[in-house]
Amino acid sequence: MEDTNISEITSTEKEITRAANIIKTRKRCVALTGAGISVESGIPPFRSKGGLWEKYDPTVYASIDVFRKDPSKYWTIRGEFIRNYNNYQPNPGHLALMELETMGLLRCVITQNIDGLHAKSGSKDILEIHGSLREIYCVNCKRQYIAPDIPAGTPPYCESCGGVLKPNTVLFGESLPATALKRAQEESEECGVMLVIGTSANVFPAAALPEIAHRSGAVLVEINLENAFPQAEVYINEKSGIALPEIIRRIKDII
Ligand SMILES: [Zn+2]
Repeated sequence: MEDTNISEITSTEKEITRAANIIKTRKRCVALTGAGISVESGIPPFRSKGGLWEKYDPTVYASIDVFRKDPSKYWTIRGEFIRNYNNYQPNPGHLALMELETMGLLRCVITQNIDGLHAKSGSKDILEIHGSLREIYCVNCKRQYIAPDIPAGTPPYCESCGGVLKPNTVLFGESLPATALKRAQEESEECGVMLVIGTSANVFPAAALPEIAHRSGAVLVEINLENAFPQAEVYINEKSGIALPEIIRRIKDII
């Protein structure tokens, strides 16, 4: 039993060292993040057990068609999700990506998360392909609001014109933000390394990005508690809040 544990630790350590070498030596590293990276900040994935979609049917509560008829449904679950909005803080995984960017080793973060934690951690170049909860706008006059500074009420209405407010997040039935998605696809085609962190291969088009990167010649480094991408050359079976800071420590050790 003890031997098994030791060999597991060794294998993760070895993969972390390989990841550090790859990031240090190959150019154009980008990261793709999903719900898994925010779990360590206390945000359960929507699709998981105990997640929001277990309690509320997303095709009703997070659908653009329903929103147009009755926006209060969306604002009800949003209230539940962001009750602790200001308490959600970036964890060491988010901070490590910010540090990699500062070190000049990470071009951008492509994220499926709408929680805004990459921005909160200080990362600069973030492609939020499912939008962001922070940004809210009036569907009528387009006035912008920033969460949590929005008018009270379910749903809240614009202080300027009385129009209903909508989050800048992608609801079911809506298209993804074209500019962010286009750049995410270009970065995936042109990168030399893609870090795939806390995301599985089941929500498109994000799930296609690692395959695009792999086909275009990039090395995939996957950090996930379950191996979702068989194409990954390096697979680190560890929490990103532990693995990413460790990768940075080793990069700094490489002369
Ligand atoms: Zn307005």
